[in-house]
Amino acid sequence: MRLAAFAGRSRRGGSRIEPAARCLFRFGAQERLGVTPQGGDDGLVRGSMVHAGAAHWCLHQAVAAGQTPIVGQLHDLDSDKVMYDVEVTPMLASSLLLPHDAVTAWTEEAEGKGEQFVSLVHSVLDRFERSPPGVALKRAQILEVEREIIGIVGYVAWDARRLAPALGAHAPVVADVGTRASRKRGDAEVQCMFVWACDPASILRWSDAGSPIPRRSDGRFESLLLDAEGKPLLITPLVVGGHVVCITRRRDLLAQFGYQRRSIDHKGLIKGAGGAQLSYGGIVGFRAFRVLEPQLIAAEKMRSAASADVEYDGVHCLVVQTKPPFKSTYVELPPQPFSDGRLAIALQWWERSIATWDSLVDRGAVTWWDAPASGTEECFGRYGMCRYHHACSGGPAATTAAAAKSSSIGEGTADDPLADW
Ligand code: SF4
Repeated sequence: MRLAAFAGRSRRGGSRIEPAARCLFRFGAQERLGVTPQGGDDGLVRGSMVHAGAAHWCLHQAVAAGQTPIVGQLHDLDSDKVMYDVEVTPMLASSLLLPHDAVTAWTEEAEGKGEQFVSLVHSVLDRFERSPPGVALKRAQILEVEREIIGIVGYVAWDARRLAPALGAHAPVVADVGTRASRKRGDAEVQCMFVWACDPASILRWSDAGSPIPRRSDGRFESLLLDAEGKPLLITPLVVGGHVVCITRRRDLLAQFGYQRRSIDHKGLIKGAGGAQLSYGGIVGFRAFRVLEPQLIAAEKMRSAASADVEYDGVHCLVVQTKPPFKSTYVELPPQPFSDGRLAIALQWWERSIATWDSLVDRGAVTWWDAPASGTEECFGRYGMCRYHHACSGGPAATTAAAAKSSSIGEGTADDPLADW
């Protein structure tokens, strides 16, 4: 038996919704039109390979330290069987691919994709082994690796405000917004809109027909949090375009240092520090971590006295250099309580804009090629030129392979007048 941990994107995560937040045309190109990104997807492939190697490295490290972490998804490469939420025991770890082999297996599974990066990613892992990233991780208990969590956007009775301390400093901000909206509607029972954490195990029942989590007969969902009577807090979901608004997030690593629990995300090198680091903390996926993890911890405390002292210590990045000397380090991302507090509002807004365009397309009024393109400085961002620039500027004709090649502006081609600057 050869076991490989799955480290790919989650099913309704930041990589789906972030493009909609930035530019509706870009969302359409990626999610609706299936446009091949300009310049291929080398960056994503290399990143996925680093993720695969790092996930296996973390699992083996944990087992060697006498721990039994949970891994979200394991694939038996010999029988093609998939297992979910598996506890990695020493016996199971003996069948788990070693980090270098996991990288090679990733390319085999992807039918040769990324072969050119194998030796580079192996060099990253060699450096991991010579000088393990973050001496601190040696002191950590690795709880989960590459496991998905889920939050549903919806309303609960206003009483939930009493839970605010358990949800973090951001909760009252959202509660106030929800209350104002609700009072304006004249609702008899004032409700509080938020992104509510649900049982991660329920994601396994994902069908994409609206929500992975079975609803009760009254249409509501059960939160992991308990009400004053010890019953699950009931969530009335926000439904947009026929779908329950939710967000998923795959935790690269959930680790605990003493009583401090951290979400750790593996990332390619963040340019600079300071401001870049600050802004990086505001991306949707990290906001989702900071909104959902405190709830999961609060739910744990409600059920077990053993977790009484556990606190959430925020999002940290394991920053990996993918070129010599292949250094890696941990970076703590500062909290952003005010923007975190508006995550539910933001998800609602972005989903509504997607649903609006979808319905116009369904009625035949427009196509996704007609969607508004934001056209801002963001078109050239952290990772360079927007990868859908060719489709955006040239339309359907520019998406043929030849046209995509000739329009690779911003990648240092001979056509780029600033290439030598
Ligand atoms: S180039 Fe800019 S406007 Fe065009 S799709 Fe990309 S982000 Fe949107």
